[in-house]
Amino acid sequence: ESASGTQLLSAQNVASLFNSVDAFLFDCDGVIWKGDKLIDGVPQTLEMLRSKGKKLVFVTNNSSKSRGQYAQKFHSLGISVSQDEIFSSSFAAAMYLKLNNFPTDKKVYVIGGEGILEELRLAGYTGLGGPEDAEKRVELKSNSLFEHDKSVGAVVVGLDPYVNYYKLQYGTLCLRENPGCLFIATNRDAVGHMTDLQEWPGAGCMVAAICGSTEREPIVVGKPSTFMMDFLLQRFEVSTSRMCMVGDRLDTDILFGQNAGCKTLLVLSGVTTQSTLQDPSNKILPDYYTSQVSDILELLGR
Ligand code: PLP
Ligand code: CA
Repeated sequence: ESASGTQLLSAQNVASLFNSVDAFLFDCDGVIWKGDKLIDGVPQTLEMLRSKGKKLVFVTNNSSKSRGQYAQKFHSLGISVSQDEIFSSSFAAAMYLKLNNFPTDKKVYVIGGEGILEELRLAGYTGLGGPEDAEKRVELKSNSLFEHDKSVGAVVVGLDPYVNYYKLQYGTLCLRENPGCLFIATNRDAVGHMTDLQEWPGAGCMVAAICGSTEREPIVVGKPSTFMMDFLLQRFEVSTSRMCMVGDRLDTDILFGQNAGCKTLLVLSGVTTQSTLQDPSNKILPDYYTSQVSDILELLGR
């Protein structure tokens, strides 16, 4: 047990956590899987929680897939979920536009992946950019003019493994020439598990590029933003005081849960180590911490 009120999850306190919540919100990378690799014991733990009547919700900042593509990923890893239980930052970006009555005759320029474009399509919007602009090049000759579609009313920025100067110029022009153009970031994660074994620059890097060129700040729709929480709360009848947010990152997941008044459980199966958690410079303290999700099953079984 650490100082400062964060308790190591144990056979003694697990039942009180379990009995005090009706819903578990799970972050995905570092909690359910690492890259494409399932974390041990997760399917069994989720099944147990479901069988005890707990509501499960999955919240990921990774915008590279749509909800449908995430549902397939869950199924391929042996976890049964319904698409309605999945909240990805790609989906949140499309829902932000929808809830703010963004007109369907305006277009959305995307610095990001197919997941964002698919969610935009499903919401009835026309997305430009993304993978289509992966190979595009700019002409930096003295009298060359960069053309962009003037009907773009929003720029959405997420992780883009094919980011290039063409896309940066496109997004920059849309935002600089039209102060009414919305600047939406799916998330600002510094790094993510693009592969199982390593971390890679995350969406924060592409978002920072556009902040730099436009001198504007984005609307962030992923964790820890209140948009993501308010949006998912509208879809479930659970009070936040009876929810537990389970995540591996302090400044996205744990903060996200705390801001809403949820209980919080940090797992050490992802990006945060026990020494980071317990470092005096860390100000984000979860209610509980444990090594991995399957500890819930193990400790309750004792
Ligand atoms: N963004 C990218 C590009 C990632 O690769 C990841 C994790 O792999 C994340 C964000 C964080 O995802 P999550 O919120 O599921 O931890
Ligand atoms: Ca995570």
